[in-house]
Amino acid sequence: MVHFVGAGPGAPDLITRRGEELLRKTDVVIYAGSLVNPALLGLCREGCAVYNSAHMTLEQVLDVIRAAQSKGEDVVRLHTGDPCLYGAIREQMDVLDAEHIPYDDTPGVSSFCGAAAALSAEYTLPGVSQSVIITRMAGRTPVPERESIAALAAHGATMVVFLSAGMLPALQTELLKGAYTETTPAALVYKATWPEEKVLRCPLGRLAETGAAHGITHTALVLVGDFLGTEYDRSCLYDPGFATGFREASK
Ligand code: SAH
Repeated sequence: MVHFVGAGPGAPDLITRRGEELLRKTDVVIYAGSLVNPALLGLCREGCAVYNSAHMTLEQVLDVIRAAQSKGEDVVRLHTGDPCLYGAIREQMDVLDAEHIPYDDTPGVSSFCGAAAALSAEYTLPGVSQSVIITRMAGRTPVPERESIAALAAHGATMVVFLSAGMLPALQTELLKGAYTETTPAALVYKATWPEEKVLRCPLGRLAETGAAHGITHTALVLVGDFLGTEYDRSCLYDPGFATGFREASK
């Protein structure tokens, strides 16, 4: 059986208890070596076969899975963050379905949550934004035109941009075509939750320059929006004047 597991954003103790248990027991692990913290492999039992998928094609990953399955062995497919974002799991799952190889999926803490923690930020501030747009610049993987950064930036919502730290000048230009301005607050979070984490805040107009000054070209998230500012409304949930299903209004 194959277990897709989210490794979390970096700090090894941010894997879930279920993910850790699966890693401890597995016969084979295939980990995304470009981003998964190798310290997690220390949880594997002696004799566990370890493959780094950074050096493998989809076909090679599937061959390792098939070989394990034919021997009745378990495989942990360890993806960075949560596997549901830019994890390329669907193409694996579809083959497993076709070949009747059973699998399950254990979520992980995505790096966009790790970045929020590093910033002590709340993405969904009342009176500011109630939506989080998760997206990326087009790279070798194209992005549909209707989801271009400029089109999404028209909402002025909280935006988290993955896989784009190497394209900061173009990203800044695209973001400024929407509802954000040069002074809209932005941040770069490099290697959130790793010991070498860097948190850089700047106005959007200085995003590219800030990234260049700190040598940020990969393994970073770009965050944009007024959630990084100082103004917001307090919540209704904890307002004494509002009743909830669990608490009566006090005035
Ligand atoms: N599934 C992963 C995303 C994989 S795509 C998740 O849920 O986080 C890889 C991209 O994720 C990187 O280019 C970078 O933009 C981002 N990323 C992954 N780990 C990160 C971290 N610890 N800090 C900042 N960005 C990270």
